[in-house]
Amino acid sequence: MTQTISRRHLLAAGAASAVAGAAGTASAAQGKPKFDKIVDIIVVGSGFAGLAAALEARLGGAEVMLLEKMPAFGGNSAINGGAFSVAGSPLQKKFGIKDSPEQMLADMIRSGRGLSHVDLLKMVVNGSLPAYEFTLRHGVKYKDFVQHFGGHSVPRTLQTVESTGGGITRPLTESCRKHGVDLHLRAKMEDFVRDESGRVIGLVVRERYLFPNEKSGVLQTYGARRGVIMATGGFSRNIWFRKQQDPNLDERLDSTNHPGATGEGMLKMFAIGGAPVQVDQIQLGPWSSPDERGFGLVSQFNTIAGFPMGIMVDVRTGKRFCNELADRKERTDAILGQMENGKPVYPVCFTDSKGVAKAQTLKNGLKYGVIKQFNTIAELARAYGIPVKGLEEQVARWNQMVRSKKDTDYHRALDLAIVLDKPPFYAARVWPKVHYCMGGVGITPRAEVYDVMGRVIPGLYACGEVTGGTHGASRLGGCAIADGLVMGRVAADNCLKNKPVTL
Ligand SMILES: Cc1cc2nc3c(=O)[nH]c(=O)nc-3n(C[C@H](O)[C@H](O)[C@H](O)COP(=O)(O)OP(=O)(O)OC[C@H]3O[C@@H](n4cnc5c(N)ncnc54)[C@H](O)[C@@H]3O)c2cc1C
Repeated sequence: MTQTISRRHLLAAGAASAVAGAAGTASAAQGKPKFDKIVDIIVVGSGFAGLAAALEARLGGAEVMLLEKMPAFGGNSAINGGAFSVAGSPLQKKFGIKDSPEQMLADMIRSGRGLSHVDLLKMVVNGSLPAYEFTLRHGVKYKDFVQHFGGHSVPRTLQTVESTGGGITRPLTESCRKHGVDLHLRAKMEDFVRDESGRVIGLVVRERYLFPNEKSGVLQTYGARRGVIMATGGFSRNIWFRKQQDPNLDERLDSTNHPGATGEGMLKMFAIGGAPVQVDQIQLGPWSSPDERGFGLVSQFNTIAGFPMGIMVDVRTGKRFCNELADRKERTDAILGQMENGKPVYPVCFTDSKGVAKAQTLKNGLKYGVIKQFNTIAELARAYGIPVKGLEEQVARWNQMVRSKKDTDYHRALDLAIVLDKPPFYAARVWPKVHYCMGGVGITPRAEVYDVMGRVIPGLYACGEVTGGTHGASRLGGCAIADGLVMGRVAADNCLKNKPVTL
């Protein structure tokens, strides 16, 4: 079927037509855009979601173009901690851990506090094991252990060998290249091109873009016969937009995200009618440190060692004040409550020499002074101005609870907890940072983008952090990798089913 594009509808596509016209890449006079290149599917974004979508679509026989605005592939996915929650993995079986998609679903629903879109969550939990197998087929390697992250009822979080998401994005990028995905770096999606039915048939793209110079590069128009998949990630670094959702998330709060997490892909979808879903649900990471920028070295130290193997205390008393393995929202709310006269009173999280056995960032954390080492609990207390007696009593009480296998204070799961009695002790200060956007554009379980009237926008798919609703009020750790990989593949599978438009 040949689609004709009228001048009126090119203009209705908003900035797309204006930009394209300005670049001379689409002929508004003829009422039909002149595409510089036409493929079956264009994927925007090169994180877990975009790479999985591009690879799945390519292996499904489509001609695929992948656009990434930054000078390197991977976005947040490449700098992430490489922790991937999978229900029923072979590693769980090896270590005798019983788990199922239903159990993971129950944990995620609980964490989402009634806001999760359960139809989307079901896609993620059911697809997590196939997504893990997909990564193995493309060369990803995992460590030989399973971690117990906060809010999960059992240990189910796998860890890439590299301890970063780059351990997944690098092999997937290589696979994309090997299988013939047309990969574009520094190519920023500027706007959609739509036909008169409203179907998305292409994109206006700024090639040779130099982030963050919005005038850099040259404009091109690319056609997509089957559709466009948006995998542009979250907006944690867009301070203006996150402040509109929650005025507390202002300039004073750092973010763990890469600089390009500015959310304009999502905003462009809103601009053509895409439905905003739970955009004010923004997650802060409870494990980061005020002593370094971004995710840094402490976040992983706390995730792998401090929280599961140690305790976190209020420096004014030396006492614990929350379940260190509660979900992120519960911990963040508790930590942000540590204020005095409007100023943060940074809590301290610590463990002992046994607890740090798997903490890969320990060495560099010590080198850069963001993690500190102490020979005694008293020495640790004095260094942070904690009452010595208070902290010693707390450690004794904790050790007693670990021995009796019951946390009577905060009901924490103690399966990984250890008695803290093997010096030296390792400690870091803690303060949350803006980490993850649970909200985004609305999608169906087929990853189709729907508009504010609840109608699917033809030819438009979205996956990963740019979408909203899956995780409700709080995402569980390791579940963004699952979400991105699963829904990227779902988007591709459904986009592949579209009858191609003749452009
Ligand atoms: C430091 C850190 C650690 C984390 N650790 C974990 C973890 O261990 N486990 C876990 O499950 N989750 C973790 N997360 C969350 C997880 O990494 C992200 O939610 C996930 O990477 C999002 O994947 P994505 O593919 O949706 O987006 P991203 O990986 O952010 O990729 C989106 C890409 O789109 C590009 N882009 C944006 N707009 C445009 C445009 N207009 N044109 C072209 N390209 C564009 C961006 O530059 C980016 O490269 C972590 C996050 C951070 C920041």
